[in-house]
Amino acid sequence: MKNDTSAILMIYTGGTIGMKKDHNEGTLKPYDFSQIYDGVPELRQFAATIDSYTFDPLIDSSDVEPSNWQALAELIKEKYDEYDGFVVLHGTDTMCYSASALSFMLDGLTKPVIFTGSQLPVGVPRTDGKENLISAVEIAAAKDAEGHAMVPEVCIFFNSMLMRGNRCVKVNSEGFDAFHSPNCPPLAQAGITIKYNTEIIRKPLDWYQSLSVNAKLDTRVSILKIHPGITPEVVRQIVCGKSSRAVILETYGSGNAPAKEWFIDILAEAAKEGKILVNVTQCLTGTVDMNIYANGKVLAKLGVVSGYDSTTESCLAKLFFLMGKSSDNEKVRLLMGKNLKGEISVN
Ligand code: ASP
Repeated sequence: MKNDTSAILMIYTGGTIGMKKDHNEGTLKPYDFSQIYDGVPELRQFAATIDSYTFDPLIDSSDVEPSNWQALAELIKEKYDEYDGFVVLHGTDTMCYSASALSFMLDGLTKPVIFTGSQLPVGVPRTDGKENLISAVEIAAAKDAEGHAMVPEVCIFFNSMLMRGNRCVKVNSEGFDAFHSPNCPPLAQAGITIKYNTEIIRKPLDWYQSLSVNAKLDTRVSILKIHPGITPEVVRQIVCGKSSRAVILETYGSGNAPAKEWFIDILAEAAKEGKILVNVTQCLTGTVDMNIYANGKVLAKLGVVSGYDSTTESCLAKLFFLMGKSSDNEKVRLLMGKNLKGEISVN
């Protein structure tokens, strides 16, 4: 830490917040960090010391890859002792995936890692980026009476709400309320003051533990979104494809899928091969419970594990992380049902 005031590292990865219009093509493209600093001069007056780090190349977050998460996690690890908090400026399109991944990859976190971005670049008069950025910095710098971080978690701050990163979904491609956290209340809300929901903020058991990075990810996961009219060919291709070790089934309601013989046979074949099959619901709110309907129970009997109230984004990141850590599919199945970083409402 540099002095009494908090020291924040702002990591700019790309995204609308710092984009500028390419007048030849008429599209928005990532621009350098000066675009942000010029658009938010208030950052220069902040009580916290703010340093910046810019990714090279900057990316539209639709280009994000697990290698970017690894670089981000390693950077946070490298700079961890120098700063009290980290603000990650990131495109909104895949922010939920990145925040989910970082929540699993960073182990022993005692400092805030706050993702934010915007729907309009900071250079545009009605930008939401300015507000998002200033509040994200304030949250990353906030300490409690004992001098510990108020929010030692990986979060997304957007449109006045601080949300647990691995609980968020992007729900709006135009409005400023781009993110919701349907199954977990906000960790803080910014109004005249920032009100922290201290009851639900996760605290480390040891504030002096060191941070470690789980950088190894196994990305062999496919996602099957079930829909009326889905064919055996499509299901077989996704569920039994040789390149996947796990399949996320995006099911209906409380975790229901067709009980047709061909569908069950394909799933049974994949289960027999030892594939990890995880059930998440297509519903925004609520949880998977495969014991309510006969159609759900069939899946449970096949060994499909519940993703509970996980978002698909978080489920994907959790599988990447757990499969990267272990080659034992049974162990991965077991840990998918455990609440590791507040990503599911299970104790
Ligand atoms: N395409 C942009 C990105 O995700 C959208 C945004 O930042 O809002 O990088």
